[in-house]
Amino acid sequence: MEISHILNELGEDRSLYFNAVAPPIMQTSNFVFDTFDEIRKAFEDENSTYLYSRGKNPTIEILRKKLAALDGAEDALVFNSGASAIYCSVLANVKTGDHIISVEKPYSWASRMFDNMLPRFGISTTYINGTDIENFKAAIRPETRIIYLESPNSLTFDLQDLEAVARLAKSHNIITIIDNSYCTPLYQQPLAFGIDLSLQSATKYLGGHSDTVAGVLTGKEELLQKIFFEQLLNNGSGISPFNAWLILRGLRTLPVRLAHITKTTEKVISYLKSHPKIERVIFPLDKDFPQLELAHKQMKGACGLFTIVFKSDSYSQIEKFTYSLKHFLVAVSWGGHESLILPQAAGIGPDKFDPQIEQHRMARMYVGLEDADYLIADLDQALKIL
Ligand SMILES: *Cc1c(COP(=O)(O)O)cnc(C)c1O
Repeated sequence: MEISHILNELGEDRSLYFNAVAPPIMQTSNFVFDTFDEIRKAFEDENSTYLYSRGKNPTIEILRKKLAALDGAEDALVFNSGASAIYCSVLANVKTGDHIISVEKPYSWASRMFDNMLPRFGISTTYINGTDIENFKAAIRPETRIIYLESPNSLTFDLQDLEAVARLAKSHNIITIIDNSYCTPLYQQPLAFGIDLSLQSATKYLGGHSDTVAGVLTGKEELLQKIFFEQLLNNGSGISPFNAWLILRGLRTLPVRLAHITKTTEKVISYLKSHPKIERVIFPLDKDFPQLELAHKQMKGACGLFTIVFKSDSYSQIEKFTYSLKHFLVAVSWGGHESLILPQAAGIGPDKFDPQIEQHRMARMYVGLEDADYLIADLDQALKIL
Protein backbone atom coordinates (compact mmCIF):
# COMPACT_ATOMS: atom_id res chain seq x y z
CA MET A 1 0.00 0.00 0.00
CA GLU A 2 1.30 3.47 -0.82
CA ILE A 3 2.46 5.52 2.16
CA SER A 4 0.65 8.62 0.88
CA HIS A 5 -2.62 6.71 0.85
CA ILE A 6 -2.03 5.28 4.33
CA LEU A 7 -1.16 8.62 5.93
CA ASN A 8 -3.76 10.76 4.17
CA GLU A 9 -6.77 8.54 3.56
CA LEU A 10 -6.75 5.03 5.00
CA GLY A 11 -9.30 4.42 7.76
CA GLU A 12 -10.92 7.83 7.37
CA ASP A 13 -14.58 8.20 6.37
CA ARG A 14 -15.51 11.88 6.44
CA SER A 15 -19.20 11.20 5.76
CA LEU A 16 -19.36 9.89 9.34
CA TYR A 17 -18.30 13.23 10.79
CA PHE A 18 -19.83 16.15 8.82
CA ASN A 19 -17.19 15.87 6.04
CA ALA A 20 -14.63 17.37 8.39
CA VAL A 21 -11.10 17.02 6.98
CA ALA A 22 -9.58 16.21 10.35
CA PRO A 23 -11.10 13.23 12.16
CA PRO A 24 -12.83 14.01 15.46
CA ILE A 25 -11.45 13.16 18.89
CA MET A 26 -14.15 10.76 20.03
CA GLN A 27 -13.85 11.75 23.66
CA THR A 28 -16.29 9.31 25.20
CA SER A 29 -15.85 6.53 27.74
CA ASN A 30 -18.85 4.40 26.70
CA PHE A 31 -21.26 3.66 23.85
CA VAL A 32 -25.05 3.17 23.85
CA PHE A 33 -26.87 0.00 22.72
CA ASP A 34 -30.27 -0.25 21.05
CA THR A 35 -31.03 -3.93 21.77
CA PHE A 36 -30.17 -6.69 24.25
CA ASP A 37 -28.80 -8.68 21.32
CA GLU A 38 -26.23 -6.01 20.56
CA ILE A 39 -25.15 -5.75 24.18
CA ARG A 40 -24.68 -9.50 24.43
CA LYS A 41 -22.62 -9.54 21.25
CA ALA A 42 -20.40 -6.75 22.59
CA PHE A 43 -19.83 -8.62 25.86
CA GLU A 44 -18.92 -11.77 23.96
CA ASP A 45 -16.41 -10.05 21.70
CA GLU A 46 -15.29 -6.59 22.74
CA ASN A 47 -13.13 -6.36 19.65
CA SER A 48 -16.16 -6.58 17.35
CA THR A 49 -17.85 -3.35 18.39
CA TYR A 50 -17.64 -0.14 20.40
CA LEU A 51 -18.50 -0.82 24.04
CA TYR A 52 -16.06 1.05 26.25
CA SER A 53 -13.03 3.19 25.34
CA ARG A 54 -10.55 1.16 27.39
CA GLY A 55 -10.89 -1.20 24.42
CA LYS A 56 -12.20 0.10 21.10
CA ASN A 57 -12.76 3.75 20.20
CA PRO A 58 -13.33 5.27 16.72
CA THR A 59 -10.39 7.72 16.85
CA ILE A 60 -8.07 4.94 17.99
CA GLU A 61 -9.44 2.66 15.24
CA ILE A 62 -8.31 5.07 12.52
CA LEU A 63 -4.83 5.07 14.03
CA ARG A 64 -4.76 1.27 14.31
CA LYS A 65 -5.56 0.87 10.61
CA LYS A 66 -2.82 3.28 9.54
CA LEU A 67 -0.18 1.78 11.84
CA ALA A 68 -0.97 -1.79 10.73
CA ALA A 69 -0.71 -0.78 7.06
CA LEU A 70 2.59 1.05 7.60
CA ASP A 71 4.12 -2.17 8.92
CA GLY A 72 2.41 -4.42 6.35
CA ALA A 73 0.71 -6.09 9.32
CA GLU A 74 -2.71 -7.70 9.75
CA ASP A 75 -3.44 -5.60 12.81
CA ALA A 76 -2.04 -3.00 15.21
CA LEU A 77 -2.66 -2.19 18.86
CA VAL A 78 -1.97 1.24 20.34
CA PHE A 79 -0.87 1.67 23.95
CA ASN A 80 -0.49 4.57 26.37
CA SER A 81 3.31 4.16 26.17
CA GLY A 82 6.02 2.25 24.37
CA ALA A 83 6.84 0.63 27.70
CA SER A 84 3.35 -0.87 27.93
CA ALA A 85 3.66 -2.21 24.35
CA ILE A 86 6.84 -3.99 25.53
CA TYR A 87 5.22 -5.22 28.74
CA CYS A 88 2.02 -6.51 27.14
CA SER A 89 3.71 -8.23 24.19
CA VAL A 90 6.02 -10.14 26.53
CA LEU A 91 3.55 -10.92 29.33
CA ALA A 92 0.92 -12.35 26.98
CA ASN A 93 3.40 -14.94 25.76
CA VAL A 94 5.05 -16.35 28.89
CA LYS A 95 4.17 -18.54 31.85
CA THR A 96 6.05 -19.82 34.91
CA GLY A 97 9.14 -21.81 33.94
CA ASP A 98 9.60 -20.09 30.59
CA HIS A 99 12.83 -18.59 29.33
CA ILE A 100 13.49 -15.44 27.30
CA ILE A 101 16.50 -14.54 25.18
CA SER A 102 17.09 -10.80 24.92
CA VAL A 103 19.74 -8.78 23.15
CA GLU A 104 22.06 -7.15 25.65
CA LYS A 105 21.34 -3.55 26.70
CA PRO A 106 17.73 -3.41 25.50
CA TYR A 107 15.63 -0.34 26.33
CA SER A 108 15.96 0.23 30.09
CA TRP A 109 12.36 -0.58 31.05
CA ALA A 110 12.53 -3.83 29.07
CA SER A 111 15.56 -4.95 31.07
CA ARG A 112 13.98 -3.82 34.34
CA MET A 113 11.02 -6.06 33.56
CA PHE A 114 13.30 -8.99 32.65
CA ASP A 115 15.54 -8.50 35.71
CA ASN A 116 13.24 -7.31 38.49
CA MET A 117 9.73 -8.48 37.77
CA LEU A 118 9.66 -11.65 35.67
CA PRO A 119 11.99 -13.68 37.97
CA ARG A 120 9.31 -13.38 40.71
CA PHE A 121 7.04 -15.39 38.40
CA GLY A 122 9.71 -17.98 37.59
CA ILE A 123 10.61 -16.54 34.18
CA SER A 124 14.30 -16.10 33.41
CA THR A 125 16.13 -14.08 30.78
CA THR A 126 19.49 -14.64 29.11
CA TYR A 127 21.16 -11.59 27.54
CA ILE A 128 23.32 -12.17 24.50
CA ASN A 129 25.39 -10.16 22.07
CA GLY A 130 22.95 -10.13 19.16
CA THR A 131 25.46 -9.25 16.46
CA ASP A 132 26.29 -12.96 15.99
CA ILE A 133 23.54 -15.47 15.18
CA GLU A 134 25.59 -18.23 16.86
CA ASN A 135 24.93 -16.56 20.22
CA PHE A 136 21.18 -17.00 19.71
CA LYS A 137 21.64 -20.67 18.80
CA ALA A 138 23.73 -21.29 21.90
CA ALA A 139 21.21 -19.65 24.23
CA ILE A 140 18.11 -21.56 23.10
CA ARG A 141 16.66 -23.98 25.65
CA PRO A 142 13.61 -26.27 25.41
CA GLU A 143 11.68 -23.74 27.53
CA THR A 144 12.66 -20.64 25.50
CA ARG A 145 9.46 -18.85 24.49
CA ILE A 146 10.55 -15.39 23.34
CA ILE A 147 13.49 -13.82 21.54
CA TYR A 148 13.49 -10.09 22.26
CA LEU A 149 15.30 -7.83 19.78
CA GLU A 150 16.13 -4.16 19.41
CA SER A 151 17.80 -3.40 16.11
CA PRO A 152 19.47 -0.98 16.19
CA ASN A 153 19.62 -0.17 19.89
CA SER A 154 19.74 3.50 20.80
CA LEU A 155 23.26 3.93 22.17
CA THR A 156 25.71 1.71 20.29
CA PHE A 157 23.29 0.85 17.46
CA ASP A 158 24.17 -2.87 17.39
CA LEU A 159 22.08 -4.75 14.84
CA GLN A 160 20.67 -8.25 14.66
CA ASP A 161 20.22 -10.14 11.40
CA LEU A 162 16.41 -10.12 11.48
CA GLU A 163 15.91 -12.69 8.75
CA ALA A 164 18.33 -15.18 10.32
CA VAL A 165 16.93 -14.73 13.84
CA ALA A 166 13.33 -15.10 12.60
CA ARG A 167 14.21 -18.30 10.73
CA LEU A 168 15.99 -19.78 13.76
CA ALA A 169 13.14 -18.83 16.10
CA LYS A 170 10.47 -20.35 13.82
CA SER A 171 12.31 -23.66 13.70
CA HIS A 172 12.12 -23.77 17.53
CA ASN A 173 8.57 -22.41 17.86
CA ILE A 174 9.82 -19.26 19.58
CA ILE A 175 8.05 -15.90 19.27
CA THR A 176 10.19 -12.98 18.08
CA ILE A 177 9.52 -9.43 19.29
CA ILE A 178 11.45 -6.40 18.06
CA ASP A 179 11.67 -2.83 19.29
CA ASN A 180 11.67 -0.93 15.97
CA SER A 181 11.47 2.58 17.46
CA TYR A 182 14.73 3.70 15.86
CA CYS A 183 13.81 2.99 12.24
CA THR A 184 10.02 3.27 12.20
CA PRO A 185 8.25 1.22 9.49
CA LEU A 186 9.46 3.76 6.93
CA TYR A 187 13.07 2.67 7.35
CA GLN A 188 12.70 -0.97 8.47
CA GLN A 189 9.93 -3.53 8.08
CA PRO A 190 10.64 -6.30 10.58
CA LEU A 191 7.53 -8.35 9.79
CA ALA A 192 8.69 -8.73 6.18
CA PHE A 193 11.78 -10.50 7.54
CA GLY A 194 9.59 -12.95 9.47
CA ILE A 195 9.60 -11.25 12.89
CA ASP A 196 6.31 -11.96 14.73
CA LEU A 197 5.69 -8.74 16.66
CA SER A 198 7.06 -5.27 15.98
CA LEU A 199 6.73 -2.49 18.54
CA GLN A 200 7.65 1.16 18.66
CA SER A 201 7.60 3.98 21.10
CA ALA A 202 5.18 6.26 19.21
CA THR A 203 6.42 8.98 21.58
CA LYS A 204 9.45 9.29 19.29
CA TYR A 205 9.15 9.72 15.50
CA LEU A 206 5.49 8.83 15.03
CA GLY A 207 4.22 11.55 17.35
CA GLY A 208 7.20 13.68 16.45
CA HIS A 209 6.35 16.78 18.47
CA SER A 210 7.43 15.84 22.02
CA ASP A 211 3.89 16.24 23.32
CA THR A 212 2.54 12.67 23.57
CA VAL A 213 3.61 9.39 25.17
CA ALA A 214 2.33 6.36 23.24
CA GLY A 215 3.27 2.91 21.96
CA VAL A 216 2.35 0.67 19.03
CA LEU A 217 2.51 -3.05 18.42
CA THR A 218 1.90 -4.74 15.06
CA GLY A 219 1.72 -8.35 13.88
CA LYS A 220 -0.64 -11.18 13.03
CA GLU A 221 -4.23 -10.71 14.16
CA GLU A 222 -4.21 -13.92 16.20
CA LEU A 223 -1.25 -12.81 18.31
CA LEU A 224 -2.62 -9.29 18.74
CA GLN A 225 -6.08 -10.49 19.77
CA LYS A 226 -4.51 -12.48 22.58
CA ILE A 227 -2.60 -9.40 23.72
CA PHE A 228 -5.71 -7.21 23.41
CA PHE A 229 -7.87 -9.46 25.60
CA GLU A 230 -5.26 -10.76 28.06
CA GLN A 231 -3.27 -7.58 28.54
CA LEU A 232 -4.50 -4.31 27.05
CA LEU A 233 -8.09 -4.68 28.32
CA ASN A 234 -7.05 -6.22 31.61
CA ASN A 235 -4.33 -3.78 32.65
CA GLY A 236 -5.95 -0.81 30.93
CA SER A 237 -2.92 0.19 28.92
CA GLY A 238 -4.69 1.45 25.81
CA ILE A 239 -4.17 4.98 24.51
CA SER A 240 -6.64 7.82 25.17
CA PRO A 241 -8.65 9.21 22.21
CA PHE A 242 -6.91 12.59 22.51
CA ASN A 243 -3.42 11.09 22.45
CA ALA A 244 -4.43 8.83 19.55
CA TRP A 245 -5.50 11.96 17.69
CA LEU A 246 -2.13 13.63 18.37
CA ILE A 247 -0.32 10.60 16.96
CA LEU A 248 -2.61 10.71 13.89
CA ARG A 249 -1.66 14.33 13.38
CA GLY A 250 2.03 13.53 13.82
CA LEU A 251 1.82 10.73 11.25
CA ARG A 252 0.71 13.12 8.49
CA THR A 253 4.20 14.63 8.34
CA LEU A 254 6.28 11.56 9.25
CA PRO A 255 7.92 11.07 5.81
CA VAL A 256 8.70 14.80 5.47
CA ARG A 257 10.23 15.00 8.94
CA LEU A 258 12.31 11.85 8.47
CA ALA A 259 13.58 13.01 5.08
CA HIS A 260 14.61 16.39 6.48
CA ILE A 261 16.27 14.90 9.56
CA THR A 262 18.09 12.33 7.44
CA LYS A 263 19.72 15.06 5.35
CA THR A 264 20.54 17.30 8.32
CA THR A 265 22.02 14.44 10.33
CA GLU A 266 24.35 13.51 7.48
CA LYS A 267 25.80 17.04 7.51
CA VAL A 268 26.08 17.22 11.30
CA ILE A 269 27.81 13.84 11.45
CA SER A 270 30.24 14.72 8.71
CA TYR A 271 31.17 17.90 10.63
CA LEU A 272 31.62 15.98 13.90
CA LYS A 273 33.70 13.21 12.31
CA SER A 274 36.23 15.72 11.07
CA HIS A 275 36.53 17.52 14.43
CA PRO A 276 39.75 16.84 16.40
CA LYS A 277 37.94 16.72 19.77
CA ILE A 278 35.65 13.91 18.66
CA GLU A 279 37.16 10.43 18.73
CA ARG A 280 34.43 8.72 16.73
CA VAL A 281 30.78 8.86 15.76
CA ILE A 282 28.58 5.77 15.95
CA PHE A 283 25.78 5.74 13.37
CA PRO A 284 24.41 2.64 11.60
CA LEU A 285 24.69 4.04 8.07
CA ASP A 286 28.13 5.56 8.52
CA LYS A 287 30.85 4.07 6.32
CA ASP A 288 32.88 3.12 9.42
CA PHE A 289 30.02 1.31 11.17
CA PRO A 290 31.08 -2.32 11.75
CA GLN A 291 27.73 -3.79 10.64
CA LEU A 292 27.22 -1.46 7.67
CA GLU A 293 26.51 -4.29 5.22
CA LEU A 294 23.74 -5.71 7.41
CA ALA A 295 22.37 -2.21 7.96
CA HIS A 296 22.04 -1.75 4.19
CA LYS A 297 20.43 -5.16 3.84
CA GLN A 298 17.61 -4.55 6.30
CA MET A 299 17.31 -0.77 6.78
CA LYS A 300 16.18 1.75 4.19
CA GLY A 301 17.45 4.62 6.31
CA ALA A 302 18.55 5.89 9.70
CA CYS A 303 17.95 9.38 10.88
CA GLY A 304 18.53 11.73 13.77
CA LEU A 305 19.94 9.59 16.57
CA PHE A 306 23.66 8.81 16.88
CA THR A 307 26.43 8.68 19.47
CA ILE A 308 29.66 10.66 19.73
CA VAL A 309 32.74 9.69 21.74
CA PHE A 310 34.64 12.64 23.22
CA LYS A 311 38.44 12.69 23.17
CA SER A 312 38.31 14.55 26.46
CA ASP A 313 38.93 12.59 29.66
CA SER A 314 37.48 15.28 31.91
CA TYR A 315 34.01 14.96 33.44
CA SER A 316 33.75 18.69 34.07
CA GLN A 317 34.81 19.56 30.51
CA ILE A 318 32.12 17.28 29.11
CA GLU A 319 29.56 18.95 31.39
CA LYS A 320 30.75 22.40 30.41
CA PHE A 321 30.60 21.54 26.70
CA THR A 322 27.10 20.14 27.10
CA TYR A 323 25.76 23.29 28.75
CA SER A 324 27.57 25.56 26.28
CA LEU A 325 25.28 24.23 23.56
CA LYS A 326 22.42 26.62 22.93
CA HIS A 327 20.27 24.52 20.59
CA PHE A 328 20.80 20.96 21.85
CA LEU A 329 18.70 20.47 24.96
CA VAL A 330 19.84 18.15 27.73
CA ALA A 331 16.97 15.68 28.02
CA VAL A 332 15.92 12.07 27.53
CA SER A 333 13.73 10.85 24.65
CA TRP A 334 14.20 11.81 20.98
CA GLY A 335 12.18 11.88 17.75
CA GLY A 336 10.67 15.32 18.33
CA HIS A 337 11.31 18.69 16.71
CA GLU A 338 14.08 19.69 19.13
CA SER A 339 17.70 18.60 19.04
CA LEU A 340 19.01 16.86 22.15
CA ILE A 341 22.15 15.66 23.87
CA LEU A 342 22.52 13.12 26.66
CA PRO A 343 26.10 12.40 27.79
CA GLN A 344 26.61 9.09 29.60
CA ALA A 345 28.68 10.97 32.18
CA ALA A 346 25.51 12.64 33.46
CA GLY A 347 24.08 9.33 34.63
CA ILE A 348 27.42 8.02 35.94
CA GLY A 349 28.42 10.93 38.17
CA PRO A 350 31.87 12.44 38.82
CA ASP A 351 32.99 9.76 41.33
CA LYS A 352 32.42 6.77 39.09
CA PHE A 353 33.44 8.50 35.83
CA ASP A 354 36.35 6.62 34.25
CA PRO A 355 37.61 7.96 30.90
CA GLN A 356 39.38 4.63 30.24
CA ILE A 357 35.93 3.14 29.70
CA GLU A 358 34.80 4.32 26.26
CA GLN A 359 31.12 4.31 27.16
CA HIS A 360 31.75 6.93 29.85
CA ARG A 361 32.92 9.33 27.14
CA MET A 362 29.85 8.77 24.97
CA ALA A 363 27.02 11.21 24.42
CA ARG A 364 23.85 10.31 22.60
CA MET A 365 22.81 13.09 20.25
CA TYR A 366 19.56 13.68 18.45
CA VAL A 367 19.12 16.00 15.49
CA GLY A 368 15.64 17.53 15.33
CA LEU A 369 14.01 19.73 12.72
CA GLU A 370 16.42 22.66 12.90
CA ASP A 371 18.69 23.49 9.93
CA ALA A 372 22.08 21.80 9.68
CA ASP A 373 24.10 25.03 9.62
CA TYR A 374 22.32 26.35 12.70
CA LEU A 375 23.23 23.19 14.63
CA ILE A 376 26.79 22.94 13.30
CA ALA A 377 27.55 26.54 14.31
CA ASP A 378 26.30 25.73 17.79
CA LEU A 379 28.46 22.59 18.05
CA ASP A 380 31.44 24.51 16.73
CA GLN A 381 31.34 27.19 19.43
CA ALA A 382 30.76 24.64 22.21
CA LEU A 383 33.51 22.25 21.09
CA LYS A 384 36.03 25.02 21.60
CA ILE A 385 35.47 24.46 25.33
CA LEU A 386 36.82 20.90 25.19
C1 LIG B 1 11.43 5.66 24.40
C2 LIG B 1 11.70 4.26 24.05
C3 LIG B 1 10.89 3.22 24.52
C4 LIG B 1 9.78 3.42 25.51
O1 LIG B 1 8.74 4.14 25.00
P1 LIG B 1 7.82 5.12 25.89
O2 LIG B 1 6.87 5.65 24.90
O3 LIG B 1 8.72 6.14 26.47
O4 LIG B 1 7.19 4.29 26.95
C5 LIG B 1 11.16 1.94 24.09
N1 LIG B 1 12.18 1.68 23.24
C6 LIG B 1 12.98 2.66 22.78
C7 LIG B 1 14.08 2.31 21.85
C8 LIG B 1 12.77 3.98 23.17
O5 LIG B 1 13.58 4.93 22.71
